[in-house]
Amino acid sequence: MTADPLSGTNTIVAADIRINARWVIPIEPAGVVLEHYAVIIRADRIAAVVPQHEADTRFHTRETLDLPQQVLLPGLINMHGHAAMSMFRGLADDLPLMTWLNDHIWPAEAQFVNAEFVADGTKLAIAEMLRTGTTTFSDMYFFPDISARVAADVGMRASVGLILIDFPTVWANSSEEYIDKGLAVFDKYKGHDLIKTAFAPHAPYTVSDEPLKQIRTLADELELNVHMHIHETAFEVSDAVKNTGQRPLARLNELGLLTPSLQAVHMTQLLDEEIDLLAASGSHVIHCPESNMKLASGICPINRLLSAGINVALGTDSSSSNNDLDMFGEMRSAAMLAKISTMDATAAPAEQVLQMATINGARALGMDDITGSLEVGKFADIVAVNFDTIESIPVYDPVSHLVYCSSRDHVTDVWIAGKQRLTDRVLNTIDENKLKQDCLNASESIKNKATNIM
Ligand SMILES: [Zn+2]
Repeated sequence: MTADPLSGTNTIVAADIRINARWVIPIEPAGVVLEHYAVIIRADRIAAVVPQHEADTRFHTRETLDLPQQVLLPGLINMHGHAAMSMFRGLADDLPLMTWLNDHIWPAEAQFVNAEFVADGTKLAIAEMLRTGTTTFSDMYFFPDISARVAADVGMRASVGLILIDFPTVWANSSEEYIDKGLAVFDKYKGHDLIKTAFAPHAPYTVSDEPLKQIRTLADELELNVHMHIHETAFEVSDAVKNTGQRPLARLNELGLLTPSLQAVHMTQLLDEEIDLLAASGSHVIHCPESNMKLASGICPINRLLSAGINVALGTDSSSSNNDLDMFGEMRSAAMLAKISTMDATAAPAEQVLQMATINGARALGMDDITGSLEVGKFADIVAVNFDTIESIPVYDPVSHLVYCSSRDHVTDVWIAGKQRLTDRVLNTIDENKLKQDCLNASESIKNKATNIM
């Protein structure tokens, strides 16, 4: 027994895992980089973040891991994607959004998407996300029951979107059926440790008023978030104005959808008064800079949004429009795009971008009490990034390094709720060889059968 230097007691507390790291960036409190600290995990939670010498005298753990050249940070939160679409990675590129959707993606989905496709594609996406330091993802796709099951089996944290779209698909034929099947998924995962559900009406131009009103009522009743593509392109807005005389955001406001539970994805077209409206409503904006650049959709004005006090989080969108799920790439793109679009090099500094990829995502999900930062009592959702590489030395500012220098290949280890899911870049709950073989077999079949969509 050793005296506890802080409390003066002689108690050594038992815990499970101790991770000693050269640097720890807890995100909360903001602006802090801790050196030679240890993160202590007990069961699924963070029990302490303390200097290593203090950990020696206060904690006895069954496992100790030394990461002498790594930085620990909270797991990244990928706030928008369509995980299963990883199976369509590179299927159709260099096209504007509506051509890409109408002539390639929607026909491919009609021809190939089924439960097995979603299981393979979602597992492929989760494998990529884990190797990229992502511990939570927000999804919108058909067969949300399958996405939820795959994420839960692998041990990944997810907000699974209960998709709704006006036209029939292999998942459902009518808005009633989309909503009923979505509610069954909600019921199944209610209270689950890792899986949360959210309503995910596809976009203003693909979902009509009646089902949106129903979703508004149900979202209030069940306390569910609403995740939706909004104002992705100038065409979306001008087409709505031409047909209805109203901009989509104004219509959603009339329908009562602008609330703190709304996650508005893309938002590349915004008037000043719309930014005021979003700020007053407490809605969240999900910025997907690489998808917006690749489809030439537009630029989300994140500086103006953040200045107005709006919570902005980051997402990759799917591997069909990005074409990866790399949150390190997304952070760098977000920083660069904010600077060049405002001609202001001080825009979107590294620390702000890192917050967008972590705690801001947790806030958008209403999960900032359980994840998004390395704080005592939160789930141990932790990522280790190696700075001991030729590409990473010297290190003056670890925060700058994560945004401007590190790549996802430098992610070594990942824990979700205290369980290690990536060890020295090897996935612990996914058989990589089998996954690769399954996905390659499925893609061969797509190549052989695809007509006029590639
Ligand atoms: Zn999307």
